[in-house]
Amino acid sequence: MSVTMTVKQQQFNAAMEKYDKKPEYQLVGRVVSFAVIVLQVLLAVLTISQSIGPAQQVLVFAAAYIAADFINGLVHMFMDNNDDYESPAGPLVASFHLHHRTPRYKKNNVLFVYYHESGAKIWLAFFLVFAVLGVWQGVLSGVAAYGVLYFSVLSSIAEVSHYLCHVPLSGMTRFLGQIGLLMSKRHHRPHHTEDNVNYAFLNGMTDPLLNVIAKHVYPGYKKTTDIHYAQYAGADTENRA
Ligand SMILES: [Zn+2]
Ligand SMILES: [Zn+2]
Repeated sequence: MSVTMTVKQQQFNAAMEKYDKKPEYQLVGRVVSFAVIVLQVLLAVLTISQSIGPAQQVLVFAAAYIAADFINGLVHMFMDNNDDYESPAGPLVASFHLHHRTPRYKKNNVLFVYYHESGAKIWLAFFLVFAVLGVWQGVLSGVAAYGVLYFSVLSSIAEVSHYLCHVPLSGMTRFLGQIGLLMSKRHHRPHHTEDNVNYAFLNGMTDPLLNVIAKHVYPGYKKTTDIHYAQYAGADTENRA
């Protein structure tokens, strides 16, 4: 084990101690969950009074689907390869990495998962603030308003889709994965068994592009961030079995 790796493991453990002991880090997740849901409701209320016709609805929804799969995959890629545990956000980064060592999540209602997992998406809360302001002020309207609404909701659904890859599935959820609307377990598995691949969270359709970007930008997580938590003896993150 190199000195750098040992230092990183110590930094990781220190970051997780902060995450577990300092109430503000738990609070971040709760505040972000609440803010995301309230802002999504506000955005929906502001948007659904506008009419854009069925053809444009389908097109903007499809575009938002692709964008949500890609952007959430990019954020996941950035987070998995981030090892700055000493920054103020370090404890949140460390806690995020633990998703790689948790094969089975606690069984929960999908609405609870939608709410709870949205709490990890700080960037989405900021996005929603600008989206709500934009639609409210009329800067974003029609197709653009529906676009940001669908994108934000699908970004939360992406977390549910990932969660469903880590729990036993019932008929409906398995069907949604099989027809490719949500991510199938088969598609997601290489993210955990291989290195630096399949970062997408919604249904994985943009993974071919994300994999090319990952290959050029990052060395991967198997020999880096995955080893940083190897000496961590604490429990996995909340909501995970
Ligand atoms: Zn990951
Ligand atoms: Zn996973």
